[in-house]
Amino acid sequence: MLELRPTCENCNKPLPPYSLEARICTYECTFCARCVETILDNVCPNCGAGFVPRPIRPSKNWKGDNFLGKDPASTKVRHLPVDPVAHARFSASIKAIPPEKR
Ligand SMILES: [Zn+2]
Ligand SMILES: [Zn+2]
Repeated sequence: MLELRPTCENCNKPLPPYSLEARICTYECTFCARCVETILDNVCPNCGAGFVPRPIRPSKNWKGDNFLGKDPASTKVRHLPVDPVAHARFSASIKAIPPEKR
């Protein structure tokens, strides 16, 4: 199940489950939209893949116990700020490779 992490890994901005600003990579690395756009250049500093908007898990039990009450968001903060210079080098090297070979 998707781990709903509580903050942006770079700037530590709160990203509650209903946030429309949360972005995730395929490994659930979680950042805010601003960091993804302005610092990360849509390249995950941990795995080198891209980001998509994180889906919202319902707070209400609309159907079948599939909601936050049963499957709550994570409270474990992962705050590992990125070195912008090193990341710019990393993202440029990734983006030089065709998507099918990344
Ligand atoms: Zn951020
Ligand atoms: Zn990642």
